Amino acid sequence: MAFVPQLVFVEKKALEYRLGQDLLNKFRRNNIPIQIYERRLPSVDPDWTPRERFLHFKRTLVVGIWRQREFQTCKPSAHYQLPLISGCPGLCQYCYLATNLADRPYVKVYANTEDIFDRAREYVKVRSPEVTIFEASATSDPVAVEEWTGSLRKAIKFFAQLPNARLRFVTKFADVETLLGLDHQEKTEVRFSINAPWAVQRFEQGVSPVRMRLEAAARVQAEGYPIGILIAPIFLYPNWQQQYDLLIKEVAQVLPDAPLTFELITHRFTARAKAVIKDVFPQSELPLSEEERQLKYGQFGYRKFVYPRQQTKELELFFRDRITTLMPQAQILYFV
Ligand code: SF4
Repeated sequence: MAFVPQLVFVEKKALEYRLGQDLLNKFRRNNIPIQIYERRLPSVDPDWTPRERFLHFKRTLVVGIWRQREFQTCKPSAHYQLPLISGCPGLCQYCYLATNLADRPYVKVYANTEDIFDRAREYVKVRSPEVTIFEASATSDPVAVEEWTGSLRKAIKFFAQLPNARLRFVTKFADVETLLGLDHQEKTEVRFSINAPWAVQRFEQGVSPVRMRLEAAARVQAEGYPIGILIAPIFLYPNWQQQYDLLIKEVAQVLPDAPLTFELITHRFTARAKAVIKDVFPQSELPLSEEERQLKYGQFGYRKFVYPRQQTKELELFFRDRITTLMPQAQILYFV
């Protein structure tokens, strides 16, 4: 089991759904403390430090109800987010979720998956015959809790049968066994997020080792799933060329001849993210110096600090060259 929560909150309404009931029973069988709540989660000890709060919520799982009417858009990786889960038990220091989920970064799984699939069906209908792509990991790493929820399995089977629709998700977890043996119709792309040892050792905790992620990629590829590799966030540090070169060689070795895609994302941060990281990872060595970065306005108008143009260009040329040389069959979807 990838993630065993220390505390579970179950919304009363979620118990009206089969998944809510199943989860309650599973957590009971595993002797995990459970609290049922009506609509609002109980507040936590106000004396906790931001780090204590953060770690508490990272070990907490909430079973709730999806109530929004609309899905968020999801550029550049898809048309819409598929909101099956939000949050992730991983402790990656650069993770955007620490900022996005504010001071309550718990994992929340939605019990009313059929409502979510019904809404997805409506979005697809509007865009048909064009294909609509849904991203199941925009606000989570759904594989981390898949052994509990089975929501991804359901989604894979749902999209296999839905014309003009595709699903994709990305993970840093290698626990893909429950996704094997499904009739996916090659309509779900499974991507694995990896990084060089310099970044993994410093900034990624609570996730699977890179080698295991790649071996999991080979397993899902052998099952006929389209697969992809995300290298993110890409950092500049003293021997970055050597390490990223070895990383791409490792991908080529574990996934020889695989017709996979690459998504390449350089490191960036916002002022708010920096403040959160300083609070919850006070010892972090993340490079967060604004002076060494260039200011850029994001999709929703917020300011982010990216590597300066010249360095970004150097990174892009390097990655495009290494990937096309070592894996000519691979397709680079984007570099940002
Ligand atoms: Fe964030 Fe992904 Fe790490 Fe989870 S695995 S903490 S979603 S970066």
